[in-house]
Amino acid sequence: MKRGKKIIFVSHCLLNVNVKLMGLAAHPGAVKELVFFLMDHDTAMVQLPCPESEILGLCRWGHVKDQLAYPFFKDRCRCLLAPFIRQIHMYRDNGYLLKGVIGIDGSPSCGVDKTCRSTRWSGDFLDKEDTWGKIKSLEWRAEPGIFMEIFQTMLIENKLSLDFFAVDESEIDTSLSSLFKTLSRVLKR
Ligand code: SF4
Repeated sequence: MKRGKKIIFVSHCLLNVNVKLMGLAAHPGAVKELVFFLMDHDTAMVQLPCPESEILGLCRWGHVKDQLAYPFFKDRCRCLLAPFIRQIHMYRDNGYLLKGVIGIDGSPSCGVDKTCRSTRWSGDFLDKEDTWGKIKSLEWRAEPGIFMEIFQTMLIENKLSLDFFAVDESEIDTSLSSLFKTLSRVLKR
């Protein structure tokens, strides 16, 4: 039997860049370096849903975590993640090796170690001065985005544990090479 029983969960846009904000994709289809790396390491990929395209559509503006931390968005994240929690239970109970989750650093939803925040990022862009103030208020924070934060909470609630990794597409080459170093160790075990 050739089944490797080695699985990693990946953010949706790592396998389908078409859900990303217009103008952001660094690849035409998938992040193929990552896909090839995982295939070379006999690791199956389970694609997580994309909460932003699901809830806000393909023509959404860029958001910050503060905007998405409202009850409906959080509830939808929970609904989208519930089947994956069930899958994790199922794989674990059947002796599969669950190698973790790969998110997207910088994303207000799927960031793992980095997300974007601002308490002023809302309203319109009619006044130039005011708009500059909003842009200047954007900041990176070393914390997960809302979707990954909820995923981590649901894992704890279900007494499950997974390691979280991330790709940062603003510095894709450095980020992938550091991720590959880490995953080479993780995927060997
Ligand atoms: S980072 Fe998450 S929310 Fe953003 S496009 Fe990718 S999967 Fe969707």
